[in-house]
Amino acid sequence: MEPGSKVDLGEVDAGFTDKHESHEHALPEIEADVARLRELQYLMYAEGKRSLLICLQGRDAAGKDGTINHVLGAMNPQGCTVTGFKVPSQEEAAHDFLWRYHKAAPARGQVAIFNRSHYEDVLVVRVHDLVPKAVWSERYDLINDFERLLYESGTHILKFYLHIDPEEQLDRFRARIQDPARHWKISDGDYAERPYWDAYSDAFEDALSKCSTRHAPWYVIPANHKWFRNLAIARIVRETLESLDMRFPKPSVDIEEIKRKYHEIADDDVNQAAPSNGENKSGKAKATNGSQQPSNPGSA
Ligand code: AMP
Ligand code: MG
Repeated sequence: MEPGSKVDLGEVDAGFTDKHESHEHALPEIEADVARLRELQYLMYAEGKRSLLICLQGRDAAGKDGTINHVLGAMNPQGCTVTGFKVPSQEEAAHDFLWRYHKAAPARGQVAIFNRSHYEDVLVVRVHDLVPKAVWSERYDLINDFERLLYESGTHILKFYLHIDPEEQLDRFRARIQDPARHWKISDGDYAERPYWDAYSDAFEDALSKCSTRHAPWYVIPANHKWFRNLAIARIVRETLESLDMRFPKPSVDIEEIKRKYHEIADDDVNQAAPSNGENKSGKAKATNGSQQPSNPGSA
């Protein structure tokens, strides 16, 4: 969403599939994006300078878990965390509303995935009057400030609203009922929230329009078709990571000396195997490590 723009979710086709006819048709693209995603995440981990925060929001059964499983599950667990946010614990509720989210924000080199996020505090909280309007209405600015703080510290932020329509939600609830292996996912709350569909739409629309910024954009993802949702998210995450122009850090050791000393690789072989970017010809590698200052992502 363009910063400052408004969205009418009733006007967004949840069944949109762009130019793709079917899952089979889109599969090669999804697989290529997901494979590249894994490489890029490894590069982010190795580089150790920037980080990525992915927030997944959507109604019950919109596909937050499925997105993590099918798209983001491709990432190497070593550089990735997933945090789900439920009704706040007593300890969480005793702190400012951003406390639990800030603790789960990614460290340099890491990808953090939020399954639900700080937006719950202007969604479920607003729809069910869990705090007075005077409190939740101030939170949009606080959220924007929080996201700017993360961004200024080297964290890139992507926020996905998974858009399904009420018929698709009911179909998915029915599918859960018919599959004993998914009964555990059903809660009374799922059905109890359905009468609040329009109130949630209003709350989502406000969150999306008030909190879509250059550095932390919202994306409305048509999600009736799971494969299209996967394709769209894999593509956006991939393109975002590509745009960071990340590089493997220079080695902290003298590779050429090690080659000569321990592997008996001759000078000629060393030259052939030298890095193609022309850097480091002297063999005097500079030590780099995770203690460097982050580069401002805006300049990346
Ligand atoms: P689920 O994601 O299906 O496991 O459900 C988690 C539940 O926690 C949902 O009903 C959310 O609305 C609820 N929840 C998440 N964050 C908050 C919050 N900050 N305040 C109140 N309820 C929340
Ligand atoms: Mg649920």
